[in-house]
Amino acid sequence: MTFPVTDHESTAAPVEPHRVLVLNSGSSSVKYQLLDMRDRSRLASGLVERIGEETSRLVHTPLTGGAEPRERTGRIADHTAALEAAAEELAADGLGLDSPELAAIGHRVVHGGLRFSAPTVITDEVLKEIERLVPVAPLHNPANITGIRTAQALRPDLPQVAVFDTAFHTTMPEAAARYAIDVETADAHRIRRYGFHGTSHAYVSRKTAELLGRAPEEVNIIVLHLGNGASASAVAGGRCVDTSMGLTPLEGLVMGTRSGDIDPAVTFHLKRVAGMSADDIDVLLNKRSGLVGLCGDNDMRVIRRRIDEGDERAALAFDIYIHRLKKYIGAYTAVLGRVDAVAFTAGVGENAAPVREAAIAGLEQLGMAVDASLNAVRSEEPRLISPEYARVAVAVVPTDEELEIADQTFALVGRP
Ligand code: ADP
Repeated sequence: MTFPVTDHESTAAPVEPHRVLVLNSGSSSVKYQLLDMRDRSRLASGLVERIGEETSRLVHTPLTGGAEPRERTGRIADHTAALEAAAEELAADGLGLDSPELAAIGHRVVHGGLRFSAPTVITDEVLKEIERLVPVAPLHNPANITGIRTAQALRPDLPQVAVFDTAFHTTMPEAAARYAIDVETADAHRIRRYGFHGTSHAYVSRKTAELLGRAPEEVNIIVLHLGNGASASAVAGGRCVDTSMGLTPLEGLVMGTRSGDIDPAVTFHLKRVAGMSADDIDVLLNKRSGLVGLCGDNDMRVIRRRIDEGDERAALAFDIYIHRLKKYIGAYTAVLGRVDAVAFTAGVGENAAPVREAAIAGLEQLGMAVDASLNAVRSEEPRLISPEYARVAVAVVPTDEELEIADQTFALVGRP
């Protein structure tokens, strides 16, 4: 289905296109947000989940005019049907995708390899390159490609922009980006550390500098993006110099369902001794490890409740999570030499005060401390949680990947 751009406002003054649709297409879900870039406000957001199953669900939330969220249930066969359903919901709010006010569609694309260090207008050639990266991002890039093709079919006339999760990390020096393995093998298979969550690390590091009242170029920041997936980055003067995720989003911190760092020999051992296949081990490390593997739950709220009730497995899972986090804070302090701020973000980082307290506890020698009463404050705003005497600012800085994708998209294609 395509929506021709109709000239229904030909008698009125021409409308400058000022809306951006942000699409985040996963393997079985599509998240979307429509923003008005004149004031960067949100007009609507939505989520289609369990695409292809009988129990698909679309939740659409109009964000102006006080209307209630609307829900559709029942099979949504594929990404095309998902986007068409979203387009219908938007049209019902007077925000149809056929509107001349729509300037562009911005896509979150997980893997941009080494080639894409900035947001990029999607051409056939760019799409081919994203396809060429499927072997290093088999779980993510195919879904992103489907999302792009579907959106192109819907509005072939509109600029579509890819914003890559890896882009912010392309500034990492070779010393941080290379694994210490045979160089020919690594290069033949494009094996190196790419890093992910880059849109969030870029946004949060900039916001943290703003919170400190300094220019991004002047400050060194450790960003801890702790969601269901989790990653740390070391940002020196606005440029990423190290990050904890690697070839794939499996490396680094303990996550909701992923192991993070592990001796690679564990995989050979599981193959030889437990008879597991590569796919079995992939599932084990990506889906059945991390907090869920350690204690059966991956929601930090549930884990904290269990700890309060005296549950020892939950307490051990929490300790392992915090131990790894502390190691990365220490490592990135050494990488940066001087740290001006540590910023916590994403679902856990923004909401779980006990995680922030435990991660920073005992780091006074590094100039880091958390003030208990500031840490207990709940707010949507960026804020400091360190006491005044602390040399390093510790901050909570809510991330906003959709806004960053919209900003980058509009900056690239928005009319002056
Ligand atoms: P992702 O985008 O990676 O799916 P989010 O950044 O939305 O994840 O984070 C989701 C996680 O945030 C949940 O799994 C949960 O552990 C945690 N979380 C959300 N709200 C709270 C809260 N109030 N207290 C503690 N943890 C929370």
